[in-house]
Amino acid sequence: MGIRQSALQRLRKNSISAKEIASQAWCEKQMELYITSPMPATPAMEKGAAFHETKKVAVYVPLAVEPVTWPDRFYRTAYENYTSLASLKEKGVCRELKLYGSIHGFRISGVLDELQMAEGNVRIVEDKTVMNANGFSSARVRSDTIQVSVYKKLLEDIKKKDYTFDNFASTYQPENMSMSQEFMDGLESIGVRKELQTMRGIYKKMFEEILAMPEVSDSLEIRYFDRSTKELVSNMNVTYSRETLEEWLRHSMKYWSGEREALMVPENEKWKCNNCRFFGKECTPQWYKK
Ligand code: SF4
Repeated sequence: MGIRQSALQRLRKNSISAKEIASQAWCEKQMELYITSPMPATPAMEKGAAFHETKKVAVYVPLAVEPVTWPDRFYRTAYENYTSLASLKEKGVCRELKLYGSIHGFRISGVLDELQMAEGNVRIVEDKTVMNANGFSSARVRSDTIQVSVYKKLLEDIKKKDYTFDNFASTYQPENMSMSQEFMDGLESIGVRKELQTMRGIYKKMFEEILAMPEVSDSLEIRYFDRSTKELVSNMNVTYSRETLEEWLRHSMKYWSGEREALMVPENEKWKCNNCRFFGKECTPQWYKK
């Protein structure tokens, strides 16, 4: 493999998430350090995860068969995406849709929070939790806007057939994944249609459902909730700009391709380091040494 995959190789990763691309806009060095030095979930992270779980159960129908192996879980992702997209059609809303795509030749994935039907179009909604009503800055909104814009691009690429089921299949090779017999028996017992019982069948169906869904709106919504009270503190509408996103992706992918090292925040954004657990330890920015 050439230099192109050096950051992925170095970090022992084979795909990049929408969240990581967004985190690069906050601090690329911090994003990298979170991968190389993960830590157990903090109470704040657990509160955020619990909040998303509460929202999810309202419209989510889990697959009633427990996966045993990694391929079983990979199947479950597509099956639950398929039922989520059915919920979008029936109830006008679905939660937690996992997306796959490709940006500059890299594998990209992401789980968007919510799709809603709005005026005949599909609207992407992302939920974020903040410490308090004043707990987010324009830098935070910029990073979150990039995340939700990546979801829009991934969906748009599928709908425009820039990223097809065949692209997905040649990358992930679903037909070469063997699910456990126990799991497959479970699918049969709950009455999953025969043509959807294979890995290839369920992923093909998932792509067909995305292709069949109405256009995805350029109007993207980011909802900020207070982490403790769960109350909505701000509801932002941002307009998708493919050009702005592409410009950001050209910059951010240079990190993943190994063209440059992870960037630290510049001195005029040093306030971001105040709450960074790596400050003065794994990371000492150049301006700090002056
Ligand atoms: S200390 Fe500052 S520059 Fe370094 S990783 Fe943290 S936020 Fe980024």
